[in-house]
Amino acid sequence: MREKLERKKERTATIIRKLKEHYPDAHCALHHSNPLELLVATILSAQCTDERVNKTTPELFGAYKTAADYAAAPLPDIEHHLRSINFFRNKAKALKGMGEKLVSEFAGQVPRKLESLTHLPGVGRKTANVVLGNAFGIATGIVVDTHVKRLAYRLQLTQQKTPEKVETDLLVLVPKEDWVLIAHLLIFHGRQICKARSPDCESCFLADECPKKGVTH
Ligand code: SF4
Repeated sequence: MREKLERKKERTATIIRKLKEHYPDAHCALHHSNPLELLVATILSAQCTDERVNKTTPELFGAYKTAADYAAAPLPDIEHHLRSINFFRNKAKALKGMGEKLVSEFAGQVPRKLESLTHLPGVGRKTANVVLGNAFGIATGIVVDTHVKRLAYRLQLTQQKTPEKVETDLLVLVPKEDWVLIAHLLIFHGRQICKARSPDCESCFLADECPKKGVTH
């Protein structure tokens, strides 16, 4: 059992090394210039593409610059800014509630603790990990989105299917210094080569490390 885990860790290390070589500029795709903007963009990205969020946030960030701005804004005004995003009414409510809670409990600042962030409306573990890792450089976990989940399974770094269980498996295999970057690397690879419906295994540089090469799931 131990030997198997050690072999898997070695394979994971090779995968990470190759991903870093091929995607040296892998980064968070959500546009932001401070922790509050990243928190807002990540809340909006639930069940929505990063591209759509990035088209929406310039106008939103121009209108609301502080947590107090979100707290004070009439809900219909926030909804108007989010009108092209799915679930915009729920997300507008979450942003207003987020602003109110940041003002009342955190002096208007985005907290740097997982348990404080997940206390905010619209913020789950995944969103908190995105903000802590990318705004503050604090690695508290591994972000598991649809790409990370799919690739971790295809690369057989996990047999699990739920984000929470996939993250638990990855945390054992991936060194802590790569917890933030691994999500960006896998997302880049998932968008460019290991696509959901048609993985391009023939041109994949991870083929030698991939047990699912040529098998579409
Ligand atoms: S070999 Fe195919 S399934 Fe495996 S990571 Fe590459 S594209 Fe994905």
